Amino acid sequence: MASNGEPQPDCLFCKIVAREVPATLVRETDTTVAFRDINPQAPTHVLVIPKVHYPDAASLATAEPQLMADVVQEAGEVAAMEKIAVADGGPGTGYRVVFNTGSGAGQTVFHAHAHVLGGRGLEWPPG
Ligand code: C5P
Repeated sequence: MASNGEPQPDCLFCKIVAREVPATLVRETDTTVAFRDINPQAPTHVLVIPKVHYPDAASLATAEPQLMADVVQEAGEVAAMEKIAVADGGPGTGYRVVFNTGSGAGQTVFHAHAHVLGGRGLEWPPG
């Protein structure tokens, strides 16, 4: 697909990567950016995005599996940095990585991103 991997002029997250739209960055690597969600749903709510544009997680993973691995690895680094990467610590520890895919599942920005959520008890099943 023509848009895969290419910066999209109307993509909000491409603009965050280019520093054309402000965001509160928490981590950056050669291939990814992590920033705090503007509308947090938990005490820790960070988005990890690839610097290049793919519309969703599946298209990213298909085209560039190593880059998808980078995003997931960074999600873990964010959780460690936020001190929520604790396996058996009870409510408020542990974390969730979510890739909303498709508008019916709540995706509103069509540049692949991982939500890293934690710092409170997280219910299952999610809403
Ligand atoms: O999964 P979904 O596409 O809905 O996630 C997009 C996320 O991007 C939302 O949680 C929204 O709050 C966040 N956002 C942001 N900064 C913006 C615009 C949206 O953190 N400038």
